[in-house]
Amino acid sequence: MTAGDSDHEFGFELRFCAWAERAWDAHADSDDFVVARQLGTRGRRWDTVIVESTPEALRERAALGADTLDPDLQFLAEHAPAEWAWYRDALPDPGYPWRYVRQAIHRGAARGVVEKRRNGNRIQIRRVGPYPDWVERLVAVEHKPDLDASAARDLADQLERDVALGLADEVWLATEATGARVEPALLEEMPVEVGILVFDPVAGDVEVVWYPRSLDPDAPGERVRGGESESVDADRKAELRARIAERAYGRGWRHYVDNVRPDCRHFHLRRADTGYVPACGAKGCEQSESECGSSCPEFEPEPPTWRQQGWPVEGGPGKTIQRVLAARRRRERPGLGE
Ligand code: SF4
Repeated sequence: MTAGDSDHEFGFELRFCAWAERAWDAHADSDDFVVARQLGTRGRRWDTVIVESTPEALRERAALGADTLDPDLQFLAEHAPAEWAWYRDALPDPGYPWRYVRQAIHRGAARGVVEKRRNGNRIQIRRVGPYPDWVERLVAVEHKPDLDASAARDLADQLERDVALGLADEVWLATEATGARVEPALLEEMPVEVGILVFDPVAGDVEVVWYPRSLDPDAPGERVRGGESESVDADRKAELRARIAERAYGRGWRHYVDNVRPDCRHFHLRRADTGYVPACGAKGCEQSESECGSSCPEFEPEPPTWRQQGWPVEGGPGKTIQRVLAARRRRERPGLGE
């Protein structure tokens, strides 16, 4: 794949997400799921998150738009009435000032999450569709392509914390197939609840070497921070899961294109066996997300002649790449279409 460690991990991640999107159903209870990368809580981010759902629930979710519903919009979507009503009559007390609810109503109406109208001085709302309970299972995957003894120790601690908190239904470790057998002693350091799979990013094959145990997201969990541990109740865990799932729905895993420079003349997508990955013509490699930015010394904007087809409204090849990746994300969400 690539030379540098960060490039390597980035390429590994993208290939893993492409594989999961294609083949996770072999490991899931459902054929319908959403794959996203780099998501989690404030203190913990997983490399890949898979949210398993059902076709019906995903279609109902799609009726509320392609983008993430933040907690305020989700509150609206969950409680908006089927018939027109004054918002204060229709919604439960949000626990914060109503003016924030009004702001959310205006935002939500602009995005098609709820409908609003005025009746005299009063704002009335009506739901566009029910907000479904669309998260069946949440699966967290930590990547460690280069698993050596010191990485295994750090990772074992981290994964133990994931298990203790129990936010995900399953936690996996994905390491890289190198042709050599994965050292059993390294895997033995991992908590028994964590599944282990060996991924071949070139062929896109996976071998499961240890199946995970299901965790219990409905039970209170324990969060360890800076040597202190605190209990996290089931309601808080449900809130965190809903946020992660919503962000996974809106972002997917191709959002890396928003953090890099597809408008650079050297940027292109390379077809790998497992799917398309970003590559840099100037560096002759798959660049990492962090190096492909405005501070890159080799950045060069697309020549204006590349943009003559529809520029400036449609943009050049960089805009096309963004559109294609966004369309592919939509295609993976039943009910959204292209
Ligand atoms: S030259 Fe720099 S900005 Fe341009 S594609 Fe390569 S890494 Fe990205």
